[in-house]
Amino acid sequence: MKKRDLNQINEKIDNGEANIYTAEEFKKLIKENNAPSFEEVDVVTTGTCGVMSGTAAILNFIVSEPGEFIRAENVYLNGVPAYAGPCPNEWLGEVDVILHGTAHSITDKNYGGGFLLKEIMEGKSIDVRVESVDGKIIENTITRDDINRAQIIGSRMAFKNYTAFTNPGSDAVSSIFAARPLEGNLSGLTFSGCGDLNPLQNDIPHNVIKTGKKVLLNDAEAFILGDGTRSNPQKPNLMLSGDLIQMDPYYFGGFKTGEGGEIFNTVAIPIPVLTEEIYNNLLIQDKDVIIPVADIKGRHLPLTETNYNELWGDYDLRPQYSSSKCVECDVCEVEKICPTNAFSQKRLDLSRCFGCGMCANFCTHDAFNMNTGNVDLRINDEDVNIPIICRQSDRLRANKLSLKLKKKIKSGEFKL
Ligand code: SF4
Ligand code: SF4
Repeated sequence: MKKRDLNQINEKIDNGEANIYTAEEFKKLIKENNAPSFEEVDVVTTGTCGVMSGTAAILNFIVSEPGEFIRAENVYLNGVPAYAGPCPNEWLGEVDVILHGTAHSITDKNYGGGFLLKEIMEGKSIDVRVESVDGKIIENTITRDDINRAQIIGSRMAFKNYTAFTNPGSDAVSSIFAARPLEGNLSGLTFSGCGDLNPLQNDIPHNVIKTGKKVLLNDAEAFILGDGTRSNPQKPNLMLSGDLIQMDPYYFGGFKTGEGGEIFNTVAIPIPVLTEEIYNNLLIQDKDVIIPVADIKGRHLPLTETNYNELWGDYDLRPQYSSSKCVECDVCEVEKICPTNAFSQKRLDLSRCFGCGMCANFCTHDAFNMNTGNVDLRINDEDVNIPIICRQSDRLRANKLSLKLKKKIKSGEFKL
């Protein structure tokens, strides 16, 4: 079997001779029957971006002068509850907290940990309220500069196995899988997953994706701590950790769903092509990646299946907004449901857009132009064609981070 070792690849990188492809570039060449051979590829940078509910942050910051309170009992950041501790920081005037990316504000369930962490990294001012064990209330504001330490831990990230959902019933169903209830009679489909770009999809036996390996998490160097929660060989995911303060807020943030705010992240992982087996695993394409389609109400009972080529196809990754078509409805449905608040006050901020497609599917007057596609399925012995109304993964961000990783490897900034 053909082989090379990491030193050989690193030497080529140092000499500026390494052949590094993003997964998107590599798959495009495969589709064109022009795939580089084992000898012609040294590293492929893979990536994924999507809602990753198991995200938490450990934060440490000062809220008062020392001696003002014994220790925190309850802590709220912009109204989002965080768990005080584990360190009690007795009489120090500072707190350690664990904040869940899925925690919701006590006043607005659509605002939560994901939005808050993004705002911290955007340098915004954050309201802090501490209720201490000795009955004191300390209110203050902090910014990113006041945070001494901020570490993200993702307990289940970069999963490769998802299920797409539709609603065969008659009544609309609210869920975390779309920002508005999913209408019945198979009228729409929602899905997650970046298909053949996903790191674990490109290294199914975990030949290189292992505990201790360095990755990019939201554009900061991070590490694989091990398998994620509920990970198993058939449905793997990863536990990752990295320094929030080094992360680029473009790559993560809050994501509204029918059941409140969630959090999305972007992960990129390099696959050095050390063996022919590793190379062969990289040849997987969207059409080979099967995804079950289930009833939104019976999440683990598939109705049928499809593949990621059917779901992503060559469909649009971002919408175009035409203000001339907007009729200024009394209540803008798009502002209500846009998961990342990219559409606000009749302005589309593409730097916040996730490409989910909800605007194009639910604007009442077609002010958005975006083809998110339809999928042909056979359900209950009938052929049906279902529009894709919501995507909870973002291939554009996954591709962008994979490209950044490629450039960082080439420049020597990211060592393999
Ligand atoms: S729903 Fe569409 S047409 Fe109505 S205000 Fe919103 S963007 Fe404009
Ligand atoms: S595609 Fe539309 S609804 Fe989705 S994030 Fe972008 S602007 Fe918001």
